[in-house]
Amino acid sequence: MTATLRLSSRVQTLAPSATLAINELSTTLQAEGRDIVRFGLGQSPFPVPSSVVAALQRHAAEKDYLPVQGLRRLRETVADFHARRDGVLGRSGADVMVGPGSKELLFILQMVVDAELWLPNPSWVSYAPQAGLAGRTVRWLDTRLADGWILQPDCLEHACLAGQGPRILLLNSPSNPTGRSHDRQALEALAAVCRAHQVLVVSDEIYGEVHHQGGHVSMAQLYPEGTIISAGLSKWCGAGGWRLGTFSFPPELAFIRRAMCAVASESFTSVSAPIQYAAITAFEHGSDLEEYLKRSRNILDALGRRCHAQLVAAGAHCVAPDGGFYLFPDLSPLREQLMQRGITNSDELAHQLLEDTGVAVLPGTAFGRPSHELTLRLAYVDFDGAAALAGAEADLDAHWLSSYCPRVLEGMERLTRWMVGTPSVAS
Ligand code: PMP
Ligand code: GLU
Repeated sequence: MTATLRLSSRVQTLAPSATLAINELSTTLQAEGRDIVRFGLGQSPFPVPSSVVAALQRHAAEKDYLPVQGLRRLRETVADFHARRDGVLGRSGADVMVGPGSKELLFILQMVVDAELWLPNPSWVSYAPQAGLAGRTVRWLDTRLADGWILQPDCLEHACLAGQGPRILLLNSPSNPTGRSHDRQALEALAAVCRAHQVLVVSDEIYGEVHHQGGHVSMAQLYPEGTIISAGLSKWCGAGGWRLGTFSFPPELAFIRRAMCAVASESFTSVSAPIQYAAITAFEHGSDLEEYLKRSRNILDALGRRCHAQLVAAGAHCVAPDGGFYLFPDLSPLREQLMQRGITNSDELAHQLLEDTGVAVLPGTAFGRPSHELTLRLAYVDFDGAAALAGAEADLDAHWLSSYCPRVLEGMERLTRWMVGTPSVAS
């Protein structure tokens, strides 16, 4: 029987996603008794706000299949949310689609739109494999650490002039893996190029609400007619495991939404009903959520600045984060010393770091970086978010960080000592 069965050529070389694989490896190593600092998977450390949990409890008995596009009231609430918080006007609930995580919606989009996928390099791990699954071609667009890893308009323009045919530009701000956001000026410049060359933008704004200063700017404000916003509950609402994501379309692109809903109707049907009802409370954003977000941002800001300073002091090049919970250091200034320890690329770097210190991170290659480069992604989320939120003070100084985020500081200590070749940090 098995002799006649073959995997589709699209999955033959597909490995489990790097983020989920490092998470499972970390769990296995911990079960074997190793002391692992978990900087691998990027999941919010904070609990789901209690008002949102209460809404889920109230709706636990909801058992009907819901409309494929999503519960109408939820869609309206999401449209209001983007209008209020992101200044994205002219879109209603009819323009929103709800899915089981934005990841699934991103995948379905690639399935239904016959276009090349353009990705600034580095970009989140799953975009390119999804393109491969959907039979699309990926084109990587160069960015530089010196520009904060932000895509420059001349690079985009150059690609537009060189290529033909439809393309989707996937922008992610604040960014996973760099922790850096596009400011208004950067988005305006990119919007002008996209408008001139009719580039469809998917703006992955899943970390928008955790911009550390609350300063997120949506691409859909600047290029409304060509931007689909991808968002959801996973990052700012601590609800990655709830699996709820949203797309907000410009009315001009309703044909894409309809095609995506048709695929959804033949695949996932609709998102879990209780989760959708609870999400209404989340997107309504009561005053408790404002306080929750204010504290979350302050904690991520203080911790991100602290980790960044430590990496730079140890010799890495690294852009200071201003959103989300990631750092993307480049250890090439230490290349000589690392080479003497047999480390010549980012895969070896991440592997050896885990072996020697128990600090789990991802290599830059998972995000599209060339393998000779010595980049790593760190998710600085290994702390008790509930305790940190409860204990958050106006000034989150070094003492506060060591009381509430000791594992992160421990991981940073192990990592930076290891970088400069100081032994004694093995787990
Ligand atoms: N985009 C980015 C940049 C991410 O880091 C993630 C990981 N959560 C997603 C999309 C997918 O998120 P979800 O499916 O949980 O909405
Ligand atoms: N987005 C998270 C990360 O980059 C993990 C969740 C996922 O990949 O689905 O680590």
